[in-house]
Amino acid sequence: MTTTTPNAGPRFDVSLDAAAPCPNCDSRGLKIFYAVDQIPCHSTLLMQSRTEALDYPRGDLRLGFCPACGFITNTRFDPTVHEYSQRCEESQGFSPTFNKFARELAVRYADRYKLKDKVALEIGCGKGEWLVSLCEASGGRGIGIDPGYQPSRLQSPALNRIQFIVDFYGPKYANLQADFIACRHTLEHIGPTLAFMRDIRKTIGHRKDVVLFFELPEVLRELEEGAFWDMYYEHCTYFSPGSLARLFRMAHFDVTHLSVEYDNQYIIMDAVPTDGPTQPRLPLENDMPRLNRGVDNFAKVASTIARKWTDMIKGAHAKGEKVVVWGSGSKGVSFLTTLGLAREVEYVVDINTYRQGKFMAGTGQEIVSPDFLKQYRPDHIVIMNPIYIPEITAQVHAMGLRPNIVAV
Ligand SMILES: [Zn+2]
Repeated sequence: MTTTTPNAGPRFDVSLDAAAPCPNCDSRGLKIFYAVDQIPCHSTLLMQSRTEALDYPRGDLRLGFCPACGFITNTRFDPTVHEYSQRCEESQGFSPTFNKFARELAVRYADRYKLKDKVALEIGCGKGEWLVSLCEASGGRGIGIDPGYQPSRLQSPALNRIQFIVDFYGPKYANLQADFIACRHTLEHIGPTLAFMRDIRKTIGHRKDVVLFFELPEVLRELEEGAFWDMYYEHCTYFSPGSLARLFRMAHFDVTHLSVEYDNQYIIMDAVPTDGPTQPRLPLENDMPRLNRGVDNFAKVASTIARKWTDMIKGAHAKGEKVVVWGSGSKGVSFLTTLGLAREVEYVVDINTYRQGKFMAGTGQEIVSPDFLKQYRPDHIVIMNPIYIPEITAQVHAMGLRPNIVAV
């Protein structure tokens, strides 16, 4: 672990094999296909000063692909450098687009599993927004576990039915008996995936009426689009619908529902406990050919896209035009650090008020509110997620600005 050494840019053709076995299926022979050195170990942590942001510890990304189960993992991931705490600000709950999706999902699951008289446990509940929505919709009780939970944020009559625990989930919480276990955008932060799922299976024990609901980023789209900004240090694991289902089946679950939603960005999966491994039976699980193609083509696609963005942003800067990035979360940090863009982009915009006035890990840009653009008047806005184009375009036009708006 070193600090302040800039990365040497992404490398897409890395024909090395990793020594360690696959954390999903335990077989040997992970193929390394993508590497970036010296990227910030954390991107959602709030950086109070530019110096702190620039000096934040860095680590290497070496993505390895398992030809046996299709799992992708950062073989250089070191969990000890992580600082998941109340300083983490990962909430997307400031976006109407995201809120609508999350709320509809909560209503859907409250109804699907009739959670009214039941207990829902959410592992990695973040700031608790979704668990509150779920309990509001169901009328049932909830337990949320997350090291970054902050009690002061939420207001809801459902809160008196919810217990929050500020900690990491682990076997010590086996006593928390729940009917429904949700885990959203958390598994991709966990290195030993099979061990984690086996722990959950152990805590469920003989109860067969428990249902699991998992939601996490979908890697097939990331591979096919060359979305290098979706690959960063906090995400040590990357799943396709098939590789996620294979993990669950190996850990003694049956997968009962599998879909890809939110503009093909998220995997949505339901599972129930079984007495042993189960066999694939859902169409989306059959994705090994597509995964192999995605990994093989990633070098070509991602390097072309990286060049396109570098040329566009450096070209604009050279002409004296102002470029801002919109979205200061992990994608924004990954985009800027992977391309090594520091002075070419002066500011990063975020609607999350907790992130405003803070700084981007790795490249040090100040995070500003959308209102700041009225005086700054950018020529180009690069949005870190195309799903927010309509929302952001409306907001920018309402300020009387007409910059060129593009999305990754
Ligand atoms: Zn594997």
